[in-house]
Amino acid sequence: KLYNMVQDLKGNIRVFCRIRPAFCAGTRNVIDFIGEDGSLVISDPLKPKKDGRKVFQFNRVFGPSATQDDVFNDTQPLIRSVMDGYNVCIFAYGQTGSGKTYTMSGPSGGSTKDLGINYLALNDLFEISNQRKSIISYEIRVQMVEIYNEQIRDLLSEDSSSTKYPFFLICLLEIRSCTNDNGLSLPDATLHTVNSTSDVLNLMKYGEVNRVVCSTAINNRSSRSHSILTVHVHGRDPSGNRLRSCLHLVDLAGSERVDKSEVTGDRLKEAQHINKSLSCLGDVITALAQKNSHIPYRNSKLTLLLQDSLGGHAKTLMFAHVSPEEDSFGETISTLKFARRVS
Ligand code: ADP
Ligand code: MG
Repeated sequence: KLYNMVQDLKGNIRVFCRIRPAFCAGTRNVIDFIGEDGSLVISDPLKPKKDGRKVFQFNRVFGPSATQDDVFNDTQPLIRSVMDGYNVCIFAYGQTGSGKTYTMSGPSGGSTKDLGINYLALNDLFEISNQRKSIISYEIRVQMVEIYNEQIRDLLSEDSSSTKYPFFLICLLEIRSCTNDNGLSLPDATLHTVNSTSDVLNLMKYGEVNRVVCSTAINNRSSRSHSILTVHVHGRDPSGNRLRSCLHLVDLAGSERVDKSEVTGDRLKEAQHINKSLSCLGDVITALAQKNSHIPYRNSKLTLLLQDSLGGHAKTLMFAHVSPEEDSFGETISTLKFARRVS
């Protein structure tokens, strides 16, 4: 078992599926079976059992009773590799309400219990930094941005309503790669040095507030934008050797398709941007998995921004989030198919 785990954590792209608990007891659950080996059986509520069954295979499947710690335990080796100089990217993909934010940040409502990967990851990085402090000294800095309608906004900027980072400027800066002098692909986004988990909690709260300010102005924007917490790690040993890496923690916009006949104007524009960036992400990861020579990073802001941690020696993990209820079956299948395409 341990051997298997080490094996499948060695590949560069892995997919974990997480099923959130059902909200109401009365509705039928479409998930039939969850295997220890990462298999999942789902049945179409509109078809007879034997015809409607579909099997999917991922690196791991977490059922409704899996805790934040269970999920983190399997994610930890990947996160720790950031301290050894690997770039890592972790995504949460799925329809709105399927548990993306729960996995990345924690429960809705700002509870400090059951905090998610963002917090647990940073906590772990501080711990390693402490353990290694006699051999290597680390500096850990974070940025937090959102991408909405192909525009990048700084969530840690002091003045959330300011246009301090005009879109065209960010757009130019964004195409820098982590290999430039300062190692930042968004050099103008606010960068905070963090030393403790309470620093991180404060920043995350601040970023969330900035995000919410916007989401009340534009209908439920937080589920319509990608939010990206980037952790930059700098290490230096006594003989002056340096190490530089980054960890992107991405809570993607909801993947649900909107009915084109029902939405118009801003809502349609939003939907088109989301569709485009999610499908670009799928294209990039698929191209990487197939070891294609051309990787289409430039087709969306999201993939361009994450370029340094997709491909090469970087390690990528996608969480495919699904809701168990039968009325979500269509979106659940489409999430599972997306995840299968990249795995
Ligand atoms: P998304 O970000 O995909 O739109 P959320 O993370 O906001 O979805 O989840 C929707 C609701 O379900 C929230 O109230 C969240 O706290 C709850 N929830 C999601 N996943 C879980 C889980 N694994 N255990 C308990 N509650 C969950
Ligand atoms: Mg969310």
